[in-house]
Parts: sequence; structure tokens; C-alpha cells
Amino acid sequence: MKFFDLHADIFYDLTNRRLNGHDDTFNSRHYAKMKTGHIGGAIFVVWNDIQSKIQPADFLNHAFDQIQREMHDPSTHMKVVLDSCALNEKWYDDDVSVIVGIEGIEAFGDSIMLLDDYYEKGLRHVGLTWNEQNAFATGVNGDSGRGLTLLGRKMVLKIQDRNMILDLAHLNERSFWDVLRCSCKPIMVSHSNAYALCPHKRNLKDEQIKAVSAQGGIIGVTSVGSFLSQDMSNRNLEVFVEHIAHMVDVGGIETVALGFDFCDYIHENYMGVEDFEDVSKTMNLIRALSKKGFTPPEIEKMAYGNAFRFIKSTGF
Ligand SMILES: [Zn+2]
Repeated sequence: MKFFDLHADIFYDLTNRRLNGHDDTFNSRHYAKMKTGHIGGAIFVVWNDIQSKIQPADFLNHAFDQIQREMHDPSTHMKVVLDSCALNEKWYDDDVSVIVGIEGIEAFGDSIMLLDDYYEKGLRHVGLTWNEQNAFATGVNGDSGRGLTLLGRKMVLKIQDRNMILDLAHLNERSFWDVLRCSCKPIMVSHSNAYALCPHKRNLKDEQIKAVSAQGGIIGVTSVGSFLSQDMSNRNLEVFVEHIAHMVDVGGIETVALGFDFCDYIHENYMGVEDFEDVSKTMNLIRALSKKGFTPPEIEKMAYGNAFRFIKSTGF
């Protein structure tokens, strides 16, 4: 069984490490854990750290230099895929098939045309914001009365017109519903859990889960401890599986996927979920899902089947 991980900050990590003087590559820093964890494919994003001293546009340029380096390195186990055909073909290799994504387009300023430039460089996935608000939309820390802007609406249509993957993780509720109203394709929330089980601002309410499901979209359940439970002692694999079970109850099995967002390589004092600390531990998840009563075909859908179906439905 292989996994498709809808969210990992690998391009942020490699770029940030390089800017801090470390000459890491995907092979040297990430591949071993991913291979142990049977990760066959993933969306790797460039995240823009708003506390960074580097301007977002500069960081994005550095990140795409790093991405180009990986794309042209014949020895890398990261295989950047630009369409569904390539994803299907590479899935059976030992390498990790990677869709290049961006988490927040602050760096675009108010330019819609920059999307085309980065598309040419390999970008195929877009989250409109991180937690902040920008010219296009409003993240969970932005003004709750503000949603998608007129420019944001144009951007949504352009992203979908170019058969790119639109990601609603990090949007505030108003932006979420605004996007659903104007979207002409299924949408994804790559890394969020169930608000009914843990009232975190980044988690999805049941109406949101139902709406994503009704559109044929998917939600990646995430391992971030604070999204699992407010009670630190409840941040474990069992609770992670409870979030999955709740998503299945509310949205149906076809809606549920995995967007791990492991942060072990980003924060030095990272407190991971017990028995599920990093991406190498996915077999523990299979065991926990089986114990909960999910069948092998159901687990397969969550591990990669739903992600594949969704990605194809975007026209990618
Ligand atoms: Zn995120």
C-alpha cells in the first residue's frame, strides 16, 4: 500500500535550509523517511513564513531555484509531475511523485498574471492564503467579515481554467463559502480536521465537510497536534483516527484523504503525535484504521485512491 500525502512543507524546508547555509537535497534530508513510510506521491509546498525577514517574492524566487535544481538532478528520488499521465506512470516507481504547490500567494502582490509565470516553472497547486489576508482572499487570522476579493474570484477561475489544484486550507469561513459559490470544479482542503471534535480555527465545521463532499472534493486529515485535541494528553493516533471516522460519517468515505503536515523537520522542539511522529510511521496508521473497523478497500481510498480521483477531476 502506498500513500499520497496532500500536504508537506518540503520546498519551504529545503529553501530555508539553503538560505541558512545548508546544502541539503531531497535525497539527503527527506527521502529515507518517506520511503519507509511508503509515500508514493505528495504535494510539496512553498510556504511563506510571515515572520521571515526575506520578502515573500524573494523567498518564492529562491524556492523555485531550489525546485529547478531538484527537477534537473538525475539522481533525485523526487520526481516532479506536471500532469495526471506522469503521476500514473511514476506511481509504480520507488521515487516520490511530487506536485509543486504554494501555500499562500502573498508574493504575487495583486498580480494574476504571475500565476502563468510560475505555471511555466512547474507550479500546479495553489492555496490562496496562509493564515493572513492578502489581495485575493482572507485566511483564518484575517478580518472575519472579509472573504474572497474580486481579484480572488478571478484568480480562482484562472487556477481552475489552467487545470491547477485549488486548496482551501487556511481560508477563513467567509472565503471558504465565497470560493464554493464561484468554483466550477471540485475543491480540496489539504490539511484540516473536524471542528466538531476539536474547535480549532483551522478545522472544518460539519456543514463545510458536507459541502466539500457534495462537490466531489476531498479533505486531508492532518497530524498537527493542536488540530487533534485541545487536551495535550489526547494528541495521539487514536484521536487522529477519530477525526477520520467523523469525516467519514459526515462526508462519506470518498471525501477523506490524508494531508499529514508533519513538522518534525521544521521545528526543533516538535512534539509529534505519539506513535505517529513523522512520515515513516504510516504503517501504525494502517493498523489503527484496521482496529477501528475500516476495511482494506476503504483504507486504500483514504491512503491514495480518493486523492487520485480528485486530482484527475481537476483536469491536472
Ligand atoms: Zn498549512
